[in-house]
Amino acid sequence: MLAMLVLLGLCACGHAANEPQVNGSVFPLNTAAPEPVELDGSQSADGAVTVDLRQPFFINASLLFDKGHAQVAAWDFSNQTQQIAGERPILPVHTPSALDVLDPQAMAAIDPDRPVIALTFDDGPGPYTQQLLNILSANNARATFFVVGNRIKSYPEVMRAIAAQGSEIANHSWAHADLADLDEQGIREQLQWTVDEVEKYTGIRPKLMRPPYGSMDDLAVSVTRDLGMPIITWSLDTRDWQTKDAQKTYDAIISSVRNGTIILCHDIHQATIESMAKVVPALVKAGYQLVTVSQLLTLVDGGAAAGQVYNSVHW
Ligand SMILES: [Zn+2]
Repeated sequence: MLAMLVLLGLCACGHAANEPQVNGSVFPLNTAAPEPVELDGSQSADGAVTVDLRQPFFINASLLFDKGHAQVAAWDFSNQTQQIAGERPILPVHTPSALDVLDPQAMAAIDPDRPVIALTFDDGPGPYTQQLLNILSANNARATFFVVGNRIKSYPEVMRAIAAQGSEIANHSWAHADLADLDEQGIREQLQWTVDEVEKYTGIRPKLMRPPYGSMDDLAVSVTRDLGMPIITWSLDTRDWQTKDAQKTYDAIISSVRNGTIILCHDIHQATIESMAKVVPALVKAGYQLVTVSQLLTLVDGGAAAGQVYNSVHW
C-alpha cells in the first residue's frame, strides 16, 4: 500500500477574508486546515493525477496564481520527482508574524520594488562556509543557513561570521534526523538542542526550521508549531549535493530563478561554493536583491507563522 497523507490547505495570509488573493500575496501551506487529504497508491483524492510515492512523502506546495486555487505537489524522495497531487482552494487567513527580530536597517535597505530572492544553504556549517560568506559580502548579498546542531561546536567562528555578515541562521535539526521517524520528545530535542547550541555560540535563537529530507509527519508539524517555528522548504532545488558540479548548479539557478524564489543549496560541498562565486554576482547583475528568508517573508506579508510551510513568495 503506497499510502501517503498530504497535509495541505493553502492560504493567502494577511488579507481580507473571503477574498483569495491572486497576486501580491504569500501563499504558504497551512498544514492545519482544511482537513488533510488521504491519497493511496495510484489515485489522488481528486482522481485527477496519479501519485506513486514509495517513500514517506511530505512537501511541497507549488502554487497556481489564478482562480483562487493552488496546486499541491507531492515530492517523491525515492526518485526525486515532483508530482501534482491535487488542487485546493486558497483559504485566506491571517498569519501573525513569528519573526520578532529583524535588523530594521537591513530591512530598510531592501527596495520593495525590485525583485528579491533567498539563497539557502543546508547541512553546514562546514569548511567552505566562510568562503561563501566572503562571496556574499563582496556582493552585498545575504543568505540563510539551515545548520545542523551537532556541527556547530566545530565551527564557532563561522557561526559568528554568519550572523556578523547579516545572513540568517536557521534550524536543520540536531543530527539531520528524519523528523517523521521520531516521537514527540525526539522531535523536540532535535529542534530545541539546535536552538540552544546556536544561542550558546552566537546569542541568537533561530526561528526558522527546515526539516531534513523535507520530511515531516503531522506530529512533527504540530511540535514545530508548538515551538513557534515556521517551516521553510524551497521552490528551486539545485540538486547540488547530487551533481557536485559548479556549472550545473549555476545553470539550475540561472535558468529557473524568479522574483520570490527560495533556492536550496548545501554549503558543505566545494563545488557549490565554486558555483556561488559566479551565481551571486550574476544574480546581482540581473537585478535581484539577495535577502534572508525572514526578510523575504517579512517584505511580502509581515512575517511567517509558526507551523506553516513556506516554499516561496510571489508577487
Ligand atoms: Zn539537509
